[in-house]
Amino acid sequence: MLAFVHANLIDGTGRDPRPCSTVLIQGGSIIAAGADVDVPVGSVVVDLRGKTLLPGFIDAHLHLGGSDSLDDRMGNHGRHFTWDYSYNIARLMAWGVTAVRSGGDWTPEILEFRDEVEAGAVRAPHIVAPGRFVQAYEGHPLSTVYMNDPAIMQNACVLIHEGDGADRIGASVRRAVSEGVDMVKVFCGDDDKLRYPDDTTVPSLTDEQLRLVVRFAHEAGKRVMCHIDDLCDMGRAVDAGVDTVEHVCNVCTDPDQEIGEELLAKLVEHGVCVTPTIVATAEHEEHGFANGAPPVAPAARRAVSKMIQAGVRIGVGTDAGIPFVAYGESLHREMRELVGCGMTPLQAVSACTGGNAKILQRDALYGTVEAGKLADLVVLGSDPLDDIENTRDIALVMRAGRVVVDNGILSE
Ligand SMILES: [Zn+2]
Repeated sequence: MLAFVHANLIDGTGRDPRPCSTVLIQGGSIIAAGADVDVPVGSVVVDLRGKTLLPGFIDAHLHLGGSDSLDDRMGNHGRHFTWDYSYNIARLMAWGVTAVRSGGDWTPEILEFRDEVEAGAVRAPHIVAPGRFVQAYEGHPLSTVYMNDPAIMQNACVLIHEGDGADRIGASVRRAVSEGVDMVKVFCGDDDKLRYPDDTTVPSLTDEQLRLVVRFAHEAGKRVMCHIDDLCDMGRAVDAGVDTVEHVCNVCTDPDQEIGEELLAKLVEHGVCVTPTIVATAEHEEHGFANGAPPVAPAARRAVSKMIQAGVRIGVGTDAGIPFVAYGESLHREMRELVGCGMTPLQAVSACTGGNAKILQRDALYGTVEAGKLADLVVLGSDPLDDIENTRDIALVMRAGRVVVDNGILSE
C-alpha cells in the first residue's frame, strides 16, 4: 500500500479542494481518498505537505500520430503516421497527461496501440480514438492540408461522395465502426485555408449526409465528434445531432463572428460538449501560419466566454500534433485560455480531468481521485487555484499506480 498524506486534494469532480488529505493506492487503483482516511500499518508513506494532488490531466483532442519528427522516416510523409509514438507519449506524460482522445489517425495502428497500452504492454496515456475520419470526397482536410495524399486517403479516411445516401453512408460508417473504434469523427466545414484569401471553398457533407453519419454511428452505439471551422458549421453540426463539437473558430474564418443566443440554447439543451482548442488557433496565428488572414482567436475567446456563461459543457483539448501545438505543454496553455474566458481555475482543472473523462466516456475508470478509480495522478509543487500557471509545476505523475515522472517526490 502506498499512502500519500497531507496533500491538498483536488479530486476532479468539481468539488472544492480538501486540505490535508490522504490517498491510498494499491494494485494500480485508488483504495481511499479524503481527509478522514486512516493509513494502514506497513504502508509506504509519502508526505505531500505543501503540494497539491489531483487526477492526471486529459487532452480531449489531439492527434497522437501527428508529429513533424516522423516526416523524415523512410517511406513516410504527411503527419498522420503512427509509428511508435514514443516522443509524443513521453512529452504528454512529462506534462502530466494520462489520457487522450486522439481524433483521426492511421488505422488500425492507433487502435492496436490503444489496446497495447490498456494491456499494460506500453507505458503511455490511455487512448480513446475514432480511427479514420469521415469527410466529403474532395473536401477538407484530405484535399486541403493533406493534398490528397493517397496513403492518408487509404489509411486514415472514410470518403463520402456527392449523392451518397443512406445505403452507402450506412455501409461506410458500419465498416469504420467494425474496426473497433471508440467513436466516430466527422468533418463539417468547407473552407480551403491553404488558398486563403481567394475565398475558395471545397465540398462538404450536406446537412442530410451529416445527419445520416450521426444516425448510423448512434445505431452502432458510437458517439460522434464533429470537426467544425466556424460558428456557422457549429450550428449545422448541432442540428445534425452530433455529441461533441471540435474547435470554435479556426484560422482564416470570419474575425467578426459571434455566437447567437439560439445556438447557445441548443448546445445547453442537447448537452453538446464543445472542445474549443483555442490554443491551436492562437498558436497558428502567433506563428504567422494563417496566410495573412486577420486573427480569429479573439472571436474564439468571445464565443467561449459566452458558452461558459451559458453553461455549455466545455472540453479541454489542444489539437496537438498539428504544427506549433506541442504535446502536453499546450494543454496547460488551453487551461489558461479557458480561465481567461471566465472559468475559475477550479473549473478549468476539473474540466481537464473529471469533465474530460466524461467526454471520453471513461469516467467510471479514471479522471477523478475517488476510491475504485485508477491511480492516474499528478502532484503539483504549488496550488493551481492560486494561479492556473501552477498546473505546470509538475512534481510527480503516476499512471495506474506506476510512477512515470518523478521530479524529486519519491527520490528524496
Ligand atoms: Zn484535430
